[in-house]
Amino acid sequence: MKKPAPHLVVVGGGAAGFFAAITAAESFPDARITILEKNRTLLNKVRISGGGRCNVTNAVPSLSQLVQGYPRGGKFLRPLVKQFSNADTVRWFEDRGVPLKTEPDGRIFPVSDDSADVVQCLIDTARRQRVEIRTSINIQSIDCQPDKFSVRLAPDELILADQLLIASGGHPNASGYGWLAELGHTIVPPVPSLFTFNVPASPLLALAGVSTPKASVRVPGTRQTQEGPVLLTHWGFSGPAVLRLSAWAARELAACNYQFDVAFNWNAETNDQTVRQLLADYRRIHARKQVVSVPAPGLPQRLWRTLVLEAGVPETTRWADAPAKALNRLCELLVNGTFRVAGKTTFKEEFVTCGGIALSDVNPQTLESLHQPGLFFAGEVLDIDGITGGYNFQAAWTTGYIAGKNCFGKNSI
Ligand SMILES: Cc1cc2nc3c(=O)[nH]c(=O)nc-3n(C[C@H](O)[C@H](O)[C@H](O)COP(=O)(O)OP(=O)(O)OC[C@H]3O[C@@H](n4cnc5c(N)ncnc54)[C@H](O)[C@@H]3O)c2cc1C
Repeated sequence: MKKPAPHLVVVGGGAAGFFAAITAAESFPDARITILEKNRTLLNKVRISGGGRCNVTNAVPSLSQLVQGYPRGGKFLRPLVKQFSNADTVRWFEDRGVPLKTEPDGRIFPVSDDSADVVQCLIDTARRQRVEIRTSINIQSIDCQPDKFSVRLAPDELILADQLLIASGGHPNASGYGWLAELGHTIVPPVPSLFTFNVPASPLLALAGVSTPKASVRVPGTRQTQEGPVLLTHWGFSGPAVLRLSAWAARELAACNYQFDVAFNWNAETNDQTVRQLLADYRRIHARKQVVSVPAPGLPQRLWRTLVLEAGVPETTRWADAPAKALNRLCELLVNGTFRVAGKTTFKEEFVTCGGIALSDVNPQTLESLHQPGLFFAGEVLDIDGITGGYNFQAAWTTGYIAGKNCFGKNSI
């Protein structure tokens, strides 16, 4: 009698689940592969990602730069991106009919600017590979036996899997991982990453929409600091440098319940000494001009004016008449302007989970559980998360690829 085809069940029909299922199907054509998705629709996050455009990866030129985009999991990903990199992502989608383009900041999107093309490509490719896809599935229990898994889908429906691959994504609460903890895994407590800072008492709220090209932003009392564009918003601060800081400091900021000080040097190229010299030079060179009308380099006019007034220099004061004390204060506001953050706001609904399945519980070459043979993980369910710019999908593609490639062992089929 013919042996039944080995069966891989993938839990989660998101980016990582689809990539794992497709890779497994392409690598092991004789296997039976099923995706179980709890929602009615598939790939929901891919659909809404990047403001509906789907930022599939980032064009950073080297793999060492790529792994630096992960506050958690970068070291773990280092050998894995050698097997499936950002360049492989581009090739993968272009080979399957989704041309991509790179924006000046390195983010890569479909040329169509439509995430639906990415969704359709993944669904069509999975169907072509005869991956069975089941939606609206509410898994009731998973029973791990020595050489198989029983997945109960309903009181009267049980499916058996030879291999099980969990790609169920992140979850903001520890309760979302209870069923995985029951399978014997350590869960690194989840906290949100990628958020903007609420500063209700900021004197800059009226400047919403103004941005500085290269500020330095830090959390005093910690080692956390980032450089890059900062956007002033009507609730506080956003922009790439702030989002990056929120990711790298995700745990520290959660621990203080998002009540902390944040300090800005509005032009990262300057420091206290160079700004002091600049103000002295301006006082001499622009003696007859109003202070508010001559901004320091790198500062938008509206931000400069507000900081000048905050420093106690009246609107009509000329450089020659500016009190030394106020200029000292202005220098402090320019290089070390400190604001009290009281809470966070999600950035365009885009957030990722810091935390998840502990990487120490997973074989770093295959993504198989070290506690349960035949059980694999991929995507955000792992304790891996990236900064914005396509890094989170890249982690989903890379880990999905590795888990899919290894799920039946090297030569077992
Ligand atoms: C609004 C938004 C925009 C984003 N934009 C970008 C972007 O442009 N670029 C980027 O790199 N990253 C972006 N991200 C992050 C990125 O979407 C995620 O990191 C990525 O989707 C993770 O993929 P995943 O497959 O691991 O998890 P998910 O995409 O979350 O997929 C997991 C799937 O598993 C299903 N599931 C969960 N539990 C079960 C269960 N028990 N049984 C069955 N199914 C289950 C879920 O319903 C879901 O469909 C964005 C995130 C958000 C929220």
